[in-house]
Amino acid sequence: MLRFEDARRLILHHCSPLGSERISLSAACGRVLADEVHAPWDLPRWNNSAMDGFALRHEDLSATLSLPIEGYLPAGVLPGAGLAPGTAMKIMTGAPLPIGADTVVPMEEAREEAGRVSLTKRPVSGAHVRRQAEDVRAGELVIPAGTLLRPAEIGMLASFGKVVIPVFRRARIAVLSTGDELVEPGEPLSDGRIVNSNAFALAAALQEIGAEPILLGIARDTRESHLALLREGLRADGLITSAGISTGDRDLVREILLELGAEEIFWKIDIKPGRPMAFLRAENRPIFCLPGNPVATLITFEELVKPAILRMMGHRRVIQPFVQGILQEAVRKKPGRGQFLRVRLSVRDGRFLVSTSGDQQTGILRTLVSADGLVYLPPEAGDLPAGAVVDLHLLGRQAEMREE
Ligand code: AMP
Ligand code: MG
Repeated sequence: MLRFEDARRLILHHCSPLGSERISLSAACGRVLADEVHAPWDLPRWNNSAMDGFALRHEDLSATLSLPIEGYLPAGVLPGAGLAPGTAMKIMTGAPLPIGADTVVPMEEAREEAGRVSLTKRPVSGAHVRRQAEDVRAGELVIPAGTLLRPAEIGMLASFGKVVIPVFRRARIAVLSTGDELVEPGEPLSDGRIVNSNAFALAAALQEIGAEPILLGIARDTRESHLALLREGLRADGLITSAGISTGDRDLVREILLELGAEEIFWKIDIKPGRPMAFLRAENRPIFCLPGNPVATLITFEELVKPAILRMMGHRRVIQPFVQGILQEAVRKKPGRGQFLRVRLSVRDGRFLVSTSGDQQTGILRTLVSADGLVYLPPEAGDLPAGAVVDLHLLGRQAEMREE
């Protein structure tokens, strides 16, 4: 059966970036840059002062530590004249250096009296000067295409005057639940019914990565209902279904998708939970058929769907690398099948300590709610003792993690 890494590779192979659009920089945080950006000018554009102080020529200090002050340079103004030999100018942080000046002495290391500045000690030549282009040189690549725009990137783009920028389009992903037992939240829960929680969980998971969920509702366990809603789902950039992909007689999702002309790339993966997952394609659109069990739905989304959707939205980095953690308890496992464990994490001496978050049966959602991470145990792994080093994905709650 297909290994987890191979399934992920196959999925990524069949997903590529959607188109791009131009948006205002002020709305761009969390989006992905669609074209590389080169610097239109040097940053900083001029040599300028890193401190409030006095601009001077270092060689003028060979015989004296006292110079007459011949001018005042606030930030935001280009000096009208160069620095005359044997003089200093008062200068504010960020103000361009006058021609001739090469060193700045901060206020704290100088005394100003009767139109002269006296230094308490001889400065180092070039001190407290921010050199032109020391940050970025004109023409240099500053942000490659496919970069997630965080506050630092937004600031860099703004400092180059880019107020409208090209970003990849958000993926619009249809979400379809299937099953006669499902009711929407708020509807009467008669005996035997359960709430369609997967649609909400998947919509949230999509929103968390900047995609737009389109909720299609519930396909009932009939051909007609599946046909109508799957057809609608195939109009989005991608489609995620939950449940109805095992081998039960009411499991119609694959059958109807194939009937609608979709091509099956794989069905069933060697992982627990998540084994019945299928991946298909129709006219270049990926179709992720996830198991119905809420834990399996979310784990397969996290590990197999998320990288694909990140790729569709132009991200260069789509796979979260494993980090390592140290098991705090023995874990039993039979070799033969890959497994994801829901785990709690804490940090000691800068390392992750890993404990299971409780019952690992697929039906137990509570232990996913309390999980900080997922441990991946490959098929060949068997029982593991406490102290074993394991591969780990963080589930985005690092800020809440406890220091031990
Ligand atoms: P199935 O693949 O149809 O056999 O469903 C597997 C399990 O997942 C069953 O226990 C379903 O009741 C449950 N399940 C299916 N769909 C959902 C859903 N949308 N929300 C919550 N649980 C579901
Ligand atoms: Mg079902």
